[in-house]
Amino acid sequence: MPQMIINGRKTDAISGQMLDVISPVDGTVFTQIPRGDEADVDLAVKAARIAAEGPWKKFTALERGRLLVKLSGLILENAEQLSQLEAKDTGKAISSARNDIQVMARYFEFYGTAADKVHGEVIPFLNGYSVQVIREPLGVTAHIIPWNYPAQMVGRSVAPSLAMGNACVVKPAEDACLSVIRVAELALEAGLPAGVFNVVTGLGEEAGASLSAHEDINFVTFTGSNEVGVLVQKAAAEHAVKCVLELGGKSAHVVFNDVNMKLAVPAIVKGIIANTGQTCTAGSRLLIQRDIFNEFIGLVAEEFSKTKVGTPDMDLHCGPVINKSQFDRVNRYLEQGKKDGLKILAQGQIQAGVPDGGYYVTPTLFVADNHDSDLLMQEIFGPVLVALAFDTEEQAVHLANITDYGLMAAVWSENGGIQQRVAKEVKCGQVYINGFGAGGGVELPFGGVKRSGHGREKGLVALEEMSTTKTIIHYH
Ligand code: NAP
Ligand code: MG
Repeated sequence: MPQMIINGRKTDAISGQMLDVISPVDGTVFTQIPRGDEADVDLAVKAARIAAEGPWKKFTALERGRLLVKLSGLILENAEQLSQLEAKDTGKAISSARNDIQVMARYFEFYGTAADKVHGEVIPFLNGYSVQVIREPLGVTAHIIPWNYPAQMVGRSVAPSLAMGNACVVKPAEDACLSVIRVAELALEAGLPAGVFNVVTGLGEEAGASLSAHEDINFVTFTGSNEVGVLVQKAAAEHAVKCVLELGGKSAHVVFNDVNMKLAVPAIVKGIIANTGQTCTAGSRLLIQRDIFNEFIGLVAEEFSKTKVGTPDMDLHCGPVINKSQFDRVNRYLEQGKKDGLKILAQGQIQAGVPDGGYYVTPTLFVADNHDSDLLMQEIFGPVLVALAFDTEEQAVHLANITDYGLMAAVWSENGGIQQRVAKEVKCGQVYINGFGAGGGVELPFGGVKRSGHGREKGLVALEEMSTTKTIIHYH
């Protein structure tokens, strides 16, 4: 049975309580995890504090980095086991799970090899002064991560934090946390001192809420829904704790008349069906210039209708969605689309032979006449794509920016002027030109604007987010 990792030990919840873990593949309980709560979080934060200010502080940046690189190697050695665990827990296709594990390993490699390359500054100042700006760890960092990419998310948020010398407490989602526990076990094998990498499993409103409200954390990074993100930020604000939020998205593809259709069509379909649409950056809106609308949407429909949904072992485009509540939510949106007068242009197929009781939804391509429907405004978090025509570049930018979200966008055109203007006008944290997604994009700064959140992860910028500066002013 999976256990939490607190202070270098595998532990159950102090209360002794457990939570069922349900397989999205068939709806059955396949294991249990400890139901950690405030008391367990408190132990984990205390262990992290002692580690951060004791043994971990004695490690040089080079030594910390080497441990992270070693952990990356252990992840690769155990990649198949981790992939199987991830696929079982999340329901995703086994090849996607394998890719996620490679990306997780890459995070520890990237930040491990960057740890000793973070330098301070020397600032020229008045005569008689020497000024240094040095970078220091924040202390104890809290990481609340979602179920859609548990392995990638734990790598993304924990690796830069440990590289900078912080100690972590991770609260994974109750729906998918097995790979997170396993990587914390591997971290111990790699030689990370006890208390540096803690994992507390449990319910969001118990373990998650008490972690974000804990008075002795110095930073919290949260990825998940907007509603919970706001709660986490409020809780952190009670103790003036810095917060990075990576929330939802409603990313738009903006497709102009001169698009390279061959390039665009498969990338656009993949951008919404990958991970069964359960990706914050999913390209869920398709804005197409009117002159080519019919031709282009015809090609998208043809490609979209080839989408197949099945179990992780079937290794198709989509797996089941994570749980009953996501299943109901996606199906509710499908019903609402019809009520709102949207036209279904294509649907994928659920493969014969998927087990009863699993959470399989039908990938659906809608066409809308206007941007009013909730299907175009709200994050669905499922394989649902909605297309809409536009006339001018100005209108396209307006529509791309019309939702509350601002995470990602793509512009499809062969015209350099259009590419640059639209890329600069869309309000989001990442924008693609003639492509979509960057296979993990570990090196590339990532995050949202507007209601998609604030702060940046990935790339070297995460090392700044997860550390602080101290200015030393020396009079002489
Ligand atoms: P969620 O509730 O926001 O969960 C994200 C994380 O926050 C999980 O670890 C969750 O734990 C924890 N959490 C829940 N309530 C909390 C609280 N009061 N205080 C602190 N932490 C708390 O997301 P969800 O319910 O899993 O999914 C709902 C919607 O969120 C999705 O449909 C989607 O729109 C969005 N979402 C976005 C992303 C993204 O990558 N941007 C990822 C996942 C979900 P438990 O899961 O154990 O409750
Ligand atoms: Mg939840």
